[in-house]
Amino acid sequence: MENYSAQIQKALKARGMKAGDMIGVQREKDYYEGMLMPRFETGDQNCIVLKISSGYNIGVEFTRGTRFKKISGQPKSRQPLKLEKYNPEPGKKNIVILHTGGTIASRIDYETGGVIASMTPEEILLSVPELAQIVNIRAKMLFQMWSEDMEPGHWSLMAERIFEEVKNGAQGIIITHGTDTMHYTSAALSFMLQNLPVPVFLVGSQRSSDRGSSDAAVNLICAAHFISKTDFAGVGICMHGSMDDDFCFVHEGTHVKKMHTSRRDAFRSIDVLPIAKVMKEGGIEYLRDYRKRDDRPFTLKKGFDSRIALVKMHNGFNCKVLELFEKEKYKGIVLEGMALGHAPVNVLDKFTKHHKKLLDTLKRLTDDGMIILMASQCPYGVVNMNVYSTGRILQQAGVTPVEMTSECAYVKLGWALGNSKDALGAEKLLKENVVGEVPERIDLRAFLY
Ligand code: ASP
Repeated sequence: MENYSAQIQKALKARGMKAGDMIGVQREKDYYEGMLMPRFETGDQNCIVLKISSGYNIGVEFTRGTRFKKISGQPKSRQPLKLEKYNPEPGKKNIVILHTGGTIASRIDYETGGVIASMTPEEILLSVPELAQIVNIRAKMLFQMWSEDMEPGHWSLMAERIFEEVKNGAQGIIITHGTDTMHYTSAALSFMLQNLPVPVFLVGSQRSSDRGSSDAAVNLICAAHFISKTDFAGVGICMHGSMDDDFCFVHEGTHVKKMHTSRRDAFRSIDVLPIAKVMKEGGIEYLRDYRKRDDRPFTLKKGFDSRIALVKMHNGFNCKVLELFEKEKYKGIVLEGMALGHAPVNVLDKFTKHHKKLLDTLKRLTDDGMIILMASQCPYGVVNMNVYSTGRILQQAGVTPVEMTSECAYVKLGWALGNSKDALGAEKLLKENVVGEVPERIDLRAFLY
């Protein structure tokens, strides 16, 4: 509490209040209740920081008339948790939870007020006892990390572990994962696990698991319900479908994107409908056709060539950025172009003179064998480089349009390069619709769904 003003420290001390206590604060006509948090170094010394029930922090200015009361003490330090011995019940599917970290596996750190990754897979299972009623479940630790720190090497390791678990009889897999880059991982696993015979779902949460507003339990329960009943075989994401705790959407791994920084229903299917809507109580409404298990052999293709980049086109773009990749001998670049697949390549006045350099650089790079793909920074809609002359010029310079989210295009490019002998082989794979990543047709309803 030492970062608070002397006045606040004195008042807290006099009432025996510590960080983590639930307190009430009356300031003039307003009353606030929440968990007393330490003051952040950058915050106002004279504001009392409370974590309110929504999970957000507020600062209440401390003035002469401000009153506080202690409602309850800090939550008791947690008892060591123990899971009962794994005892699969006949008639229920056997599934494995592979844990990789993220907010779903985190709690609030009372020292800093931040969210820290600290829950074990066992603790997650124990905090959602409903799961064991739906499926036979075993939890295993893979990583304990934020998803923004993941590298393609983690995707390959994940794919390898899923492959082993499925070969050993798992009938479904849940991967607990941070939400920030969950859609990159879902795309990577979709490509790496070819002809998956079971459902594999990434599940995360936007609010840490120890908060009343956490979406963790409902997301996990819906994933378990879906896995327990479905004949879908493939990789997907199961996350809240609305702001309430009522249902989740099941999204296909290559057609999904995190569309909001903080809402619990942040994930949306892109250009196709979600596969299904899953009610918290277990009801399933399928919204479209989906992939089922078939006779093709289940194979692991976990290669990934990291000498690739995802580059956003914007006004004022300087092509020196691309020259750097050329110098570093990169194998491919996904351009996240404007709208239908555009980039600043037209010269019309003194400001735009340097645009020619971008076009020349793109041409030189592709002539030298670098694969340059064009996705769009618009999440929805086709990339069509035949509508405007800009698109046509870019195609003449060797840029190839792709029909998928820029994240999925980035992952597919690295995967194609990592699983081919040479650029020609990668180009061949890039032309194929490997796991249905190119939608047969764009469903316009997806935009409003
Ligand atoms: N930054 C976190 C992560 O992606 C956020 C989350 O888990 O939702 O790991």
